[in-house]
Amino acid sequence: MRIENEIKLDFKDVLIRPKRSTMHTRSIVDTLREFTFRHVDYPYHGFPIIAANMDTIGTFEMAKALAGRNFATALHKHYDAEEYIAFFRTLPENTAVFYSLGITEHDEAKLEKVMGDLDKKLRYVCIDVANGYTEKFVNFVHKIRQKYPHIVLMAGNVVTGEMTEELILSGADIVKVGIGPGSVCTTRKMTGIGYPQLSAIIECADAAHGLAGHICADGGCTAVGDIAKAFGGGADFVMLGGMFAGHDECGGETIEKDGKLFKRFYGMSSKTAMDQYSGGVAPYRAAEGKETLVPHRGAVEHTMLDIMGGVRSACTYVGARRLREFSKRTTFVRVSQQLNEVFGKD
Ligand code: 5GP
Repeated sequence: MRIENEIKLDFKDVLIRPKRSTMHTRSIVDTLREFTFRHVDYPYHGFPIIAANMDTIGTFEMAKALAGRNFATALHKHYDAEEYIAFFRTLPENTAVFYSLGITEHDEAKLEKVMGDLDKKLRYVCIDVANGYTEKFVNFVHKIRQKYPHIVLMAGNVVTGEMTEELILSGADIVKVGIGPGSVCTTRKMTGIGYPQLSAIIECADAAHGLAGHICADGGCTAVGDIAKAFGGGADFVMLGGMFAGHDECGGETIEKDGKLFKRFYGMSSKTAMDQYSGGVAPYRAAEGKETLVPHRGAVEHTMLDIMGGVRSACTYVGARRLREFSKRTTFVRVSQQLNEVFGKD
């Protein structure tokens, strides 16, 4: 047994210090980013937020709405091959929509079918497992990279620099970072495993950037300020589940309770999801996700505008004219209090 005594940080432990600048209005901030990737010379251009590949969030409807403002989406993996093929055919060139898969033979065969039909129309692929530390996962990432050299490959989840490096060297362009911070995740409670998300972002970004790779901070953003902190910590992309929940474009049931509308939102390892897709929770495992009801919030357009507005304002406070300069201009200060909650927590 060993204890690491160095302090590790979550979003709630810091604020971003404002800095003197000559910028007079937030409207001049450029929030779009351009990337080319470690393994493929394919240009990405967009606002680097990705809707999570949860079946309530990563829907076709969400992808269409988000693409309208250059946000990206990772589709959930429960559509049929034919449905993906039809959907990707309707997408304009250069739209960042990820096809997601796990690492089973079935997942691989389904990707082969979809890729066979779409060829270069499918450019973004996300290999997603709860635990990105297994040899089987690393080998799978390597195999998919060899098979499809033209794709932008995102893979995860991990939370440490050495595994970020291993995934990039094995073929990932973007490493997805986060174990346990999610809004409907119970991994930390059920297993005791995890890593404070802001430190995970800082350490994994550092490791990835040293190899010309990228990272996507996945999970734990509860407000736009957390997204800004993730970018400040070096995240190239930020993935959101809970912040996109409750909208018209989400999947899942809408429920009426005491005259108010709610949307069901649940983790992909929750009992709800496993009952739906795997015939229940297998006896050898425990659910590592939970279910909640989120007040219905209308069209996702309002949330997109809030996110863009908040990030733009954060850039202005530190004097970053472009989102790409934001992390260089970020100084975090450790705090013991974030918000004044005298009139509630909102
Ligand atoms: P959020 O933005 O809601 O805080 O986090 C979204 C992320 O939580 C997802 O992208 C995914 O990585 C993670 N997640 C989703 N469902 C589950 C689950 O059932 N269990 C765990 N451990 N993580 C989940």
